[in-house]
Amino acid sequence: MVSELPGEAEPRPGTRDVRGMAWSATVPTPVAAPRLLAFPLAMADELGLDAATLGSPSFLDLMAGNAVPPGATTVATNYGGHQFGHWAGQLGDGRALLLGEAAGRDGRRWEIQLKGAGPTPYSRRADGRAVLRSSLREYVASEAMHALGVPTTRVLSLVATGDAVVRDILYAGDPKPEPGAIVCRVAPSFLRFGHYELPASRGERDLLERLVDHTLRTHFPAMVGPNARADWFAEVARRTGVLMAHWMRVGFVHGVMNTDNLSVLGLTIDYGPFGFLDDADPHWTPNTTDLPGRRYRYAAQPQVAHWNLSALASALAPLFPDAAPLTAGMNAYVEAFQSAQARMWADKLGLAEWREDDAALVSGLFGALQAAEVDFTLFFRTLGGLVAGPVVAGGDGVTPGIAAALADPVAALAPALYDRAKAEREAATLIDWLARYAARLASDPQPADVRRARMDATNPWIVPRNWLLQQAIDAAEQGDTAELQALLDVLQRPYEAQPGAGRFAARRPEWARDRPGCSALSCSS
Ligand code: AMP
Ligand code: MG
Repeated sequence: MVSELPGEAEPRPGTRDVRGMAWSATVPTPVAAPRLLAFPLAMADELGLDAATLGSPSFLDLMAGNAVPPGATTVATNYGGHQFGHWAGQLGDGRALLLGEAAGRDGRRWEIQLKGAGPTPYSRRADGRAVLRSSLREYVASEAMHALGVPTTRVLSLVATGDAVVRDILYAGDPKPEPGAIVCRVAPSFLRFGHYELPASRGERDLLERLVDHTLRTHFPAMVGPNARADWFAEVARRTGVLMAHWMRVGFVHGVMNTDNLSVLGLTIDYGPFGFLDDADPHWTPNTTDLPGRRYRYAAQPQVAHWNLSALASALAPLFPDAAPLTAGMNAYVEAFQSAQARMWADKLGLAEWREDDAALVSGLFGALQAAEVDFTLFFRTLGGLVAGPVVAGGDGVTPGIAAALADPVAALAPALYDRAKAEREAATLIDWLARYAARLASDPQPADVRRARMDATNPWIVPRNWLLQQAIDAAEQGDTAELQALLDVLQRPYEAQPGAGRFAARRPEWARDRPGCSALSCSS
């Protein structure tokens, strides 16, 4: 990016409008007493970093922003975005700094970025810093999503800065000092939809064109020739569709799906007030800032992604004399999402193939789970257990587990229930759904063990729920990272039942129902 696109080459303090430029040279602001809290061995290994390097003071200095790589131009990049449906103008890397690029062992190219390393020209009225709680959340979630098989930006380190950062957690007029931290993020690229929207909004056609061509050359080298740009947009759309199906599969709610938070590589990016469904409420959003409109609730994410892609298409329109390829790209999104979603729900329910009327089975399931307040993750794992075993003779697809659940759904689903009385009242709804499901299984050709394996490879045993993260944060803020490490270890193998780690795979405990950080999160980070 730095060598191919125009930028502000001289670092200069102060925030400003940066026009006609893709980046601004910016140096990190040193911190008082950096301490390495965590680093993932797998990612370090991929980058060819050995134990001696990781343990060295110079690595810590780099990860803390107290030193920069020799000869490197470290930069903040320029982008805009639609926030909550409204054009917000220039945003940019207000607290992210690109340290440079590194080649992985396999020759793949990675960008290395610090988040929270101090002010940049794009910091607007904010401080360019990040608190430990939000940095730890991003660190753990990136690792967990990667292990879950969900495309995501990665991390290389989590550093406590030793400096305090003042935040008003719930925007309630109560600012307090909190421990600061810096996360080092790693991805092939951090390019967002908003990178293209900003020059388009300013009529900077030349910059827009150069940015698109740079993206193609660097990240989509196979796309060449007269259709390259059209192919690229369709590919962004397809990847976004696949990403949305993954999010729905694992119950992930991003919380701030603004166009500046969507990656053109189809990666999950910018972990802020995100969450994973506890009870299966399709209208849930973890982001209290979004509560009035619930624009970014679980069920709305696929439509929001479509909306965001159309904003990107509008931005790219000046480069397309004919709009047809952009329309085709939008259609590619719909097709990619629908087919990924069909495959995903078939896998979650253990069906060999998806049929048109299975959509009613899924919507009926959400209705039943929501009415009875059943945990999303635990339900699907439990269901996998219920379908295991031989079909009861003459029982139309009914296994012993399903037979037991039909007789007493409350007992069968006990670990996944938040309100037993509610589930008892809704027992008939649950039984009705289980009977429909059993009838559907009766016409599914898979052997029970194959079905179970497919379900267990799709339905995670554990996801990084907000209350788990909050426990790790509470301990880390007291200087104890054992809980963080234990959580990271379990999240490495999220599809594998780990009996010794059962406390991490439980439903949300009662204390976490209304606790800030667990059920209520804001953008304050
Ligand atoms: P987000 O909603 O976290 O993706 O951030 C939206 C915009 O606000 C981006 O341009 C961020 O760089 C910027 N931003 C968020 N927090 C800070 C901060 N503490 N200091 C400077 N910029 C920030
Ligand atoms: Mg962002």
